[in-house]
Amino acid sequence: MEKESPNQFSNIKNIIGIMSGKGGVGKSSVTALTAITLREQGYNVGILDADITGPSIPKVFGLNQRKAMGTPSGVEPVVSSSGIKIMSINLILDNEDEPVVWRGPIISNAVKQFYTDVIWGDLDYLLIDLPPGTGDVPLTVMQSLAIDGIIIVSTPQDLVKMVVNKSMKMVKMLHTPIIGVIENMSYFICPSCDEKHKLFGESKVRDAAKSMGTHLISEIPMDPLLVELSDEGKIELYTKHNFTFSDTYQKEINKA
Ligand code: ADP
Repeated sequence: MEKESPNQFSNIKNIIGIMSGKGGVGKSSVTALTAITLREQGYNVGILDADITGPSIPKVFGLNQRKAMGTPSGVEPVVSSSGIKIMSINLILDNEDEPVVWRGPIISNAVKQFYTDVIWGDLDYLLIDLPPGTGDVPLTVMQSLAIDGIIIVSTPQDLVKMVVNKSMKMVKMLHTPIIGVIENMSYFICPSCDEKHKLFGESKVRDAAKSMGTHLISEIPMDPLLVELSDEGKIELYTKHNFTFSDTYQKEINKA
């Protein structure tokens, strides 16, 4: 299948997809934090929110009241306070609380248009927040956009489960390079004793990732502050609170 190209107003150097086997594991949070980290390093970054039926990117950046503007040459993304360009179905719909009840092919087309019809400008990185699982949209995105790499987000127990294995298999079948696995909600640091607690017991993610031919590249703690700032639309402040991805992840993403 021929890969789509963005419009004449966009020049995108790297496209990275962020996927997970199921919802609620922190895929959108990891997408947002990756974008913020890359932006802090001085890169031009965009987020394409392809999670059409559960879009949460505008909310965590505090952009739910904003709308993307249509122009004769394409749609202008909304820009966050730190300068990240964002496109999401919630930035187009009149009422963001209304569910999107489109069928798969229409959703897939909308996602493709978020690539081809949005004026992204010069981007070093376009991060695509994919819907969970192995549905139409991840498949379309991987088949039709020139993805440079995929990051898989998992919680400690999930990677071993079938769904993620299927996601991994889909990625491999489509010959999309896997950058690595991020384990979210990996541990909890006790506020009174400062000790690291593995809430879900010893994780099997590292071994599972290895057996699938990839590797664990970062572990993110469970942190109530992340939820609080995300709910307030201030996720861009989170990296000021001692949050950093591992060096391995930063290296992997910078070479993508
Ligand atoms: P997904 O995109 O996989 O559905 P989200 O990123 O929307 O998941 O996260 C689901 C919920 O879990 C959100 O309320 C988010 O703030 C919370 N969350 C994500 N990562 C963490 C974490 N490391 N610590 C605490 N809460 C988290």
